[in-house]
Amino acid sequence: MSVRRRISIALAAIFLAIGIWWLFCLPANLFDKPLSTIVLDRTGQLIGARIADDGQWRFPETDTVPVKFAACITTYEDGGFYSHPGISPGAMLRAAWQNVNRGGVVSGASTITMQIMRMSRSPKPRSIWQKLIEISWATRAEWRYSKDEILNLYASNAPFGGNVVGLDAAAWRYFNKPAYALSWSESAVLAVLPNAPGMIYPGRNPAELLRKRNGLLKDLRENEIISDEDYSLALLEDLPSTPLPLPENARHLLATAAKTKDGQRIELTIKSRLQNDATDILNRRLDDLRRNHINNGALLISDTETGEILAYVGNGKPFEDNDGTANDMIMTPRSSGSILKPFLFGAMIESGVLTPRQLVPDIPTQYSGFSPKNYDESYSGAVPAEEALARSLNIPAVRMLRDYGIPNFHKTLNEIGFTTITKSPGHYGLSLILGGAEVTLWDLVNAYRMMGNTLNRYPSHPPFISIGYSLNQRDTLPKYSIDAGACYSTADAMAMVTRPDERASWEVFGGSEKIAWKTGTSYGFRDAWAVGITAKYTVGVWVGNASGEGRPGITGLNAAAPVMFDIFNILPDTRWFMQPTAEFALANMCARSGMRASNICADIRSEQIPKTCLETPACNYCEWVHVDENEEYRVNTDCYPQSKIHTKSWFLLPPLEAWYYQRYNADYTRLPDWKADCNPQKSGNVMRMIYPREESSVFIPRELGGEKEKIVLKAAHTRPNAVIYWHINDEYIGVTSGFHQMEIQVPTGSYRLLMVDNTGETLITNIKVETK
Ligand SMILES: [Zn+2]
Repeated sequence: MSVRRRISIALAAIFLAIGIWWLFCLPANLFDKPLSTIVLDRTGQLIGARIADDGQWRFPETDTVPVKFAACITTYEDGGFYSHPGISPGAMLRAAWQNVNRGGVVSGASTITMQIMRMSRSPKPRSIWQKLIEISWATRAEWRYSKDEILNLYASNAPFGGNVVGLDAAAWRYFNKPAYALSWSESAVLAVLPNAPGMIYPGRNPAELLRKRNGLLKDLRENEIISDEDYSLALLEDLPSTPLPLPENARHLLATAAKTKDGQRIELTIKSRLQNDATDILNRRLDDLRRNHINNGALLISDTETGEILAYVGNGKPFEDNDGTANDMIMTPRSSGSILKPFLFGAMIESGVLTPRQLVPDIPTQYSGFSPKNYDESYSGAVPAEEALARSLNIPAVRMLRDYGIPNFHKTLNEIGFTTITKSPGHYGLSLILGGAEVTLWDLVNAYRMMGNTLNRYPSHPPFISIGYSLNQRDTLPKYSIDAGACYSTADAMAMVTRPDERASWEVFGGSEKIAWKTGTSYGFRDAWAVGITAKYTVGVWVGNASGEGRPGITGLNAAAPVMFDIFNILPDTRWFMQPTAEFALANMCARSGMRASNICADIRSEQIPKTCLETPACNYCEWVHVDENEEYRVNTDCYPQSKIHTKSWFLLPPLEAWYYQRYNADYTRLPDWKADCNPQKSGNVMRMIYPREESSVFIPRELGGEKEKIVLKAAHTRPNAVIYWHINDEYIGVTSGFHQMEIQVPTGSYRLLMVDNTGETLITNIKVETK
């Protein structure tokens, strides 16, 4: 083989090797530095950002470079950018010539593409060898990427002074706006920064920065990229001073989103203005509440129609160490208090076991050691179910749950989408309806929104499409929803303005908009809840202490509802739900019991009720009663001429219910007494007081060390299985069954002791408590 040929082969091999090296020289990923997590609202507005793990504000790459910045950066850094192959030989020769003349190292003449390669390889020292690698990579990159993609790589990774990397972060840090909204002047300022980020860090050397910006603006005008007018206006704009803080009204939202999308650009359905206003409202209310050591709160606003989250405020602003505000209380399970009651009401209507206005007993109640109390410890005897819901009475709710069945309701709650009710039905027992289970505000808002959305989407089921609702991992949709008729009845009950025990507060809330709402307060005043729904918005609020500490002011009505109404006040008013008329039917209802009328009921009204209620039992409160011709006494044929007997329909509650009911319902007429010698079951009083006797005094020792002596009351009943409900001065104090002894601790004075048994028989004893 000739020498020439050998040289040729060797050269070919070398070129081939270089070619292969060149082909594979460019790494797949030019940049693998840690990124900031950023959260954007529905319009692309930045609402929160977390610094990257290496302490840099380095936002994730975008897909486009704004036109103004692209024009500025190419004009300033690389005039031939759109035509060169990654390097600019002419410029390099010029630079080399200048460098040789000045005796320095090779510098300048770098195209934008080459600068990207240097950024990617930084912090490698500058040398001719490094320059050659940059050149190779740059030419190779031009093969792989389009010009737009290259410009985007540059904009995303260029240093902009301090710990600000990339155009997006810079636009926010220096101008508090997204990059696409930058003016010509602002774009020009940012275009000159990467060239010497240390030297002209904004705020440090304004004269130099101004000179460079104006120079670039002048070039833009000369290249006819901007008009004379744009130019003179741009010159008038101020330079940025110190870097601005990034928005931070979405701390918890950012943290929640970052759990699955760390280091990413997260676009959410949040409305940033609403997010800010909601944050302010919560903080303002918390300022007041903190005087009473109620430190934390959260609120969530969702679009009832689409399920989109419009505002997510996980807690109030921090005010001291360990103040609990670091906890995201939207995602933290807490005791539900009364906030689940509407779902029981709805489920029972759907199942056809309750009508909305059906009377539910509200009397002293005890189920194997569990004795629920109403908030004000009163008893109404019997109340329409919808009023019981609107007044949030506990006893009717427990009795309803017992009728409906704990496992049934447990299943309903799981199907609606409560993810934290994971224990068995038996674990919760009847307290399931009074806060025995923990729920998150997230699940709660989703569940109530679904109720509203069922009505919005009616009749085009399925109603539980949950577009955009998932913030990240919570993609599960409810498998089930309450039927539209039941939803409407529930929402209507929740919107009842007449709330007897809340009248004073109600007026404070004002507003004419019809809102279905419910509050909840957990045992021990630890959690205050309020949820409201309209056809357009679902708003949920929790207030309490993240530590779990209870405070007397933590009630749904006092702490959470005001925040919720503040939010509804800033939201546009919306219409009320349309009644799903096809799900309702006209039925004859007993006006007294709220049940379907029987043929005995006298006061009958024709009402629209959910179709599911058409099979509920007919009224069993109204009975035929025989009275004398003057309607003064009850009679029967044994003692009264049949021809003169009047037979009347009588609304008759069971005795214990009647005893309480008549105190609040003046129109309740007790049965007349039996006419003399007519009573078929005359028996005399079945109860007897053993200690103390009527009108006798009880002596207790003088108080020693503040401890009052206990008095033990004793009574007897003729029926061995009788139950006695004890009251002092009309206040219920407890119940005994079989063996009737009741301990009391009272100051000296006169008392009226009332016993009512389970058939409504009463015995009143007046006693006097004195000291020895
Ligand atoms: Zn009736």
